[in-house]
Amino acid sequence: QVEEWRKLRSEPTVTSDGVHVELAANIGTPNDVAGVQDNGGEGVGLYRTEFLYMGRDKLPSEDVQFQAYKTVLEKMEGKPVVVRTLDIGGDKELPYLDLPKEMNPFLGFRAVRLCLERQDIFRTQLRALLRASVHGNLRIMFPMIATLDEFRQAKALLEEEKSKLISEDIAVSEDIQLGIMVEIPSTAVMADQFAKEVDFFSIGTNDLIQYTMAADRMNERVSYLYQPYNPAILRLVKMVIDAAHREGRWAGMCGEMAGDATAIPLLLGLGLDEFSMSATSILPARSQISKLSKTDMQELAFKALNLGTAEDVVELVNQAVSK
Ligand code: PEP
Ligand code: MG
Repeated sequence: QVEEWRKLRSEPTVTSDGVHVELAANIGTPNDVAGVQDNGGEGVGLYRTEFLYMGRDKLPSEDVQFQAYKTVLEKMEGKPVVVRTLDIGGDKELPYLDLPKEMNPFLGFRAVRLCLERQDIFRTQLRALLRASVHGNLRIMFPMIATLDEFRQAKALLEEEKSKLISEDIAVSEDIQLGIMVEIPSTAVMADQFAKEVDFFSIGTNDLIQYTMAADRMNERVSYLYQPYNPAILRLVKMVIDAAHREGRWAGMCGEMAGDATAIPLLLGLGLDEFSMSATSILPARSQISKLSKTDMQELAFKALNLGTAEDVVELVNQAVSK
């Protein structure tokens, strides 16, 4: 099997009926890019920038960030790199920010919520990203978007920083795709409206599942409710993909579910365009997808959407496809 996977390293990801999907990798630091290449990643689907901010005693400067983003973009040699802006707060603390303790950190002041208030932090990151954009194929996405208004505000700040850089004679790429993570149910439900304004969606199932099922993703006692295969989740995923396609946008997924062998047939059937996963999952996923027909998976997904429980969905998939 390992031999077979190795052969697929420099191959595109194509279903048995000839449909191409993109398999990208999740990374946390520039050092992770080597693993993406070794495993034949077609891009970076999620660069979690939090690590740049953690393990130090003050905010990373614009230049420190610029170097990191530039390194990743250059090493990826023109392949798409989706960088997520800072997703800090909640459970991920930064001691030097001195944020007050919260009753419900996962429902609290985190990610884009923090960035829209602490514009100094956000603008520095946006400038670093914009400066790095000329070194590769940069895509930017905002995490934890709950309302259209948040997206518009974040986009306006990006546009402002871009205009400033241009007036300073600093080069900025003209075609940076701008997207959002869909990890809050309100945004999945409103995907048709978002799709008119964003270039792409990336579904963050790690959070989308916890918020949809109201089950803390870290709490063992309620882990039985953390159900990726619950038809409720599949229906939300479908809403997002359909909304994207109706507006000519693409939809990806960067939560753990995107690399899961039981989920992949369903996601393929629902029409997901990009799957972003840990680098080591890419070759097994490519091998699995090459044996699946998209037409058959569409039928499978349709059946799954109309089942009542997560168990029923798993049983359906297990009977239909060998993994
Ligand atoms: C997600 O929520 O699915 C996601 C990819 O983001 P993180 O795991 O960093 O919260
Ligand atoms: Mg998340």
